[in-house]
Amino acid sequence: MIKKRYLLFLISILIAFQSMLTLYKKINAPKFPVHIIKLTKKEEFIDFLKPSQKEILENFERLDSKSYNKKYYDIVQNSRFVLKDKHGVQLSSYILEKLVLSDKLSSERLLYVLNRLRLLKIYDFNLIESIEYSLEYIKLAKYLGLNYDVDRGKIGLAVIIAKLDGYNTSNEILLNILNSKNSYKNRNEIEVITFLNLAENNISLGNYTKALDYLDEVTYFLKDNKINNYLDNIEIVVNALYSHIYSILEEKDEAKKYLELAKEAFYRKEEIYFLNEIIYLIYSKEYYNLKFDIENFSVKNLEKLLEKFEYSNGLIFYSSIYELLLEYYIEKYNFEKYDLLKVEYDKKNELLKEFKFEILFLNIAQYIKSGSLTKEYTDLLFKNLRMIIYIIILLIIIILYSRKVSCLNTISNKDFLTGLKNRKAFQKYLDNLNNQKYFMVLFDIDDFKAINDNFGHEVGDEVLKKIGKLLLYKEKNGYFTAFRIGGEEFALLFYKENIDKRTIVQISESVRMDIMNAQWPDSIKVSISGGAGIGDSDAYKKCDNLLYKAKRTGKNKIIYDL
Ligand code: GH3
Ligand code: MG
Ligand code: MG
Repeated sequence: MIKKRYLLFLISILIAFQSMLTLYKKINAPKFPVHIIKLTKKEEFIDFLKPSQKEILENFERLDSKSYNKKYYDIVQNSRFVLKDKHGVQLSSYILEKLVLSDKLSSERLLYVLNRLRLLKIYDFNLIESIEYSLEYIKLAKYLGLNYDVDRGKIGLAVIIAKLDGYNTSNEILLNILNSKNSYKNRNEIEVITFLNLAENNISLGNYTKALDYLDEVTYFLKDNKINNYLDNIEIVVNALYSHIYSILEEKDEAKKYLELAKEAFYRKEEIYFLNEIIYLIYSKEYYNLKFDIENFSVKNLEKLLEKFEYSNGLIFYSSIYELLLEYYIEKYNFEKYDLLKVEYDKKNELLKEFKFEILFLNIAQYIKSGSLTKEYTDLLFKNLRMIIYIIILLIIIILYSRKVSCLNTISNKDFLTGLKNRKAFQKYLDNLNNQKYFMVLFDIDDFKAINDNFGHEVGDEVLKKIGKLLLYKEKNGYFTAFRIGGEEFALLFYKENIDKRTIVQISESVRMDIMNAQWPDSIKVSISGGAGIGDSDAYKKCDNLLYKAKRTGKNKIIYDL
C-alpha cells in the first residue's frame, strides 16, 4: 500500500518536472541573439525594383509578423525568385533580415534563414557580412546541438576565407571538421565536400601531391557509394580538379582523361544543385586548352561565366577566371585586351583588399579553433542554466516537503476517516501510562457488515464518521480520550484519578444511547456493544472478552467490570 503511494508520488513528480520543462521551453524559449552588423535599407533598392520584385516585397509587407514562423519557408522561397535580377540580393536580404529581427521564428527556422542569408551575402560580394552570418549560423547550430549544420557552416567559412587568400586558415577549419568526429546523418557528404575544398586549397598553395591525395579520398567515397546526394555533381567537381592539377603538371593525357570524365558526369546529371560545378568544368576545360590546345580556348565561355555570376556566386571563382584570361592574352600577345581586363580586375581586387583587412579583426580562426563563445551566447547558456537550477531547487524542496508529509502520514496518530486518534496513538497512550491505573471501554458497532452490505460502503463510512464526530464532541468534556482502534472498533480511556465508576457508566451509556438515537441515513438502526474494565497489563483482553460477551447476549449493550 505504502509502496504504491511512493510510486504514484514519484510518477507525479516526474510528470510535474516534465510539464514544467515543457512550459518553460514554451514560454521562455530563449531567443538567440543574432548579430546583424549592417541592415539592408529599403531606400537603397526600392527605386530600382522591377514590378515583379515590387510585388514580392509588397506581398511580404502585407503579412502580419505573427505569421512569419508559419510561412517562413514560402517567404524564403519567394525571395529566391528575385535573385537573378539586379538588386534582387538586396531585396532578398532585406526580407530575410526582417524575418530574423522579428523575433518570431523558432530556433530551427532561424537557423534555416541564417543559412540563406550567409549564402546571399556571398552573392552580394558582401564577404564580411557573409562571414558574420556564418558565425551566427555556427553558433546557433552549436547551441541547438545540430552538428551537421555546425560543420556545414564551417565549410562555408572555409570557402570564403580561402578566396581571400587565407588558405592556411581555411585548411585549419577544414581539418578541424575532419578531426571533430561529430557523427550525424550525411556525415559522408560533409567529409567529401571538406576533402574537395582541401584539395582546392592545396592546388592554390602549390601542394599538388597533397591535393591529389585529397581527391583520392573523394574518389574512394564515390567508388564505395558512400554518398547518396549530389553524386554526379561531386563527380564533375572532383574530375575537373584532377584535370586541372594534371594540366598544371603538364600531364596532357591524364588531364584530358579526367576532363572527359567530368563532362560525362555533367551530361548525366539531371538537376543542378550547385551552380559551381559548371564553373569548375568550364574553368578546367579552358585551362587545359590554354596549356595544350590554345586554338580551342574560348574567351567567350569565360566572359559568360563572369557575366552570369556577377550577381551570384561568381566571387568564389572570379580571380581564377580573370587570371586565366590574362594569361591567355599574354600568350596571344594581345596587350590591349590584357590592359583593359587588368584594370577591371584590379578594381575588384581593391574591394577584396578591404575585406581582407577587415577579416584580420574578426579572428575567425581563433574562434573556430577554440570554439570560444561570444558574450550573448554565454549569457544565453547561463539563462538556461539558471532556470534549470531553479527547477532543481524547487524539486528538492518538493521532495523534502513531501518526505516530511509522508513521514507525518506514517507516524501520524490520527485516523483520517473519523478524526479520532488511531490504534498507534492508542498503543502509545497505554505505554505512556506506565503503571497508572485507568479505565477502558471497548466498543464495536453491531452488525456493521450488514449495514455495508445493505446500504453500501459509503453509508458505512458515514456511520463511522458520525460516531467519530460524536466522540470528539464528548471528548471535550475532559473525561476520556477516544480512539478508533479497528475498522468499526473504538476505545475510550478514562484516567482513574479524576473520575468515579458511576460517571464512567453514565458517560459510556450516553455514548451508546446517543448512537442508538441519532439520525442515521436511510433510517438505519445503529447500535454498539461494549466491554468496560480497569486498566492493567491485560485490560484490553479483559474488555474484549466482555465485549464478546455483550455480542453473544443480544448486542446493543455494554458490560461493565469496574
Ligand atoms: P458484529 O455485530 O458481530 O460486530 O457484526 P459485524 O458485521 O459488525 O462484524 P464483522 O466483523 O463481521 O464485520 C465488520 C465489518 O466492518 C466488515 C468490514 O467490511 C466493515 N468495516 C471495517 N472498516 C470499515 C470502514 O472503514 N468503512 C466501512 N464502510 N466498513 C468497514
Ligand atoms: Mg468487529
Ligand atoms: Mg461489528
